[in-house]
Amino acid sequence: MHNLHDKLIKVRDRVHEATKCARRDPEGVQIIAVSKKQPAEKLREVYEAGQRQFGESYLQEALEKQLALADLDIEWHFIGPIQSNKTQSIAQHFNWVHSVDREKIARRLNDQRPSELPPLNVCLQVNIDNEASKSGITPDQLIDLAERIVDLPHLRLRGLMAIPAPREDYQEQLTALMKVRDQFARLQQQLASPHIDTLSMGMSGDLEAAIAAGATMVRVGTDIFGARENPLPAKGN
Ligand SMILES: *Cc1c(COP(=O)(O)O)cnc(C)c1O
Repeated sequence: MHNLHDKLIKVRDRVHEATKCARRDPEGVQIIAVSKKQPAEKLREVYEAGQRQFGESYLQEALEKQLALADLDIEWHFIGPIQSNKTQSIAQHFNWVHSVDREKIARRLNDQRPSELPPLNVCLQVNIDNEASKSGITPDQLIDLAERIVDLPHLRLRGLMAIPAPREDYQEQLTALMKVRDQFARLQQQLASPHIDTLSMGMSGDLEAAIAAGATMVRVGTDIFGARENPLPAKGN
């Protein structure tokens, strides 16, 4: 089946083209293949096409796929909302968490990270469209939260993640994404940490604008895997 392979290549080409337009190093943008609500066989196929970073939003579903794919060398990224009772499993089974937005969650992830594993890479989720969205800190909370978690020994604060409200128009996308970039620059300036190098933003519909605005990780689901399956029956993530 060449279908998923071709889709991945197309996304890689888009990323490459966008870095060229932005006069950026193509190596400076990583693709996270967002595989939520996709079956393990499809992840395996995308892996065989060369993809190593996968992003999941629902813990239970992710753990099942991790078991099914335990023979592969995958870097797992958790990108969904985090409830406190899920932190232990997340701390044990992921390499990255993009969606930290509370000190309590960060502390639990730190305390529960197995000490034989390297520090858990974390991004703080910022909400720049502050109307009505549920997840993410506001820019005025950013530095305070970052300072509280930057020295936790089992976490490594890497940067910011954002999910701007969907917009069709490129210029409008860019305007929103530049606001995230400004917050990222502020974080880099105000924290004396050499590890803050990651700006996770851009999805299937806005990855070009995200790369123009400075994204270092784009999280692409639909344009790699196709449409997602029907929402899973509610089983507590
Ligand atoms: C689902 C999801 C994506 C991927 O979205 P697509 O539009 O399918 O590319 C990216 N980031 C997060 C946080 C998601 O939940």
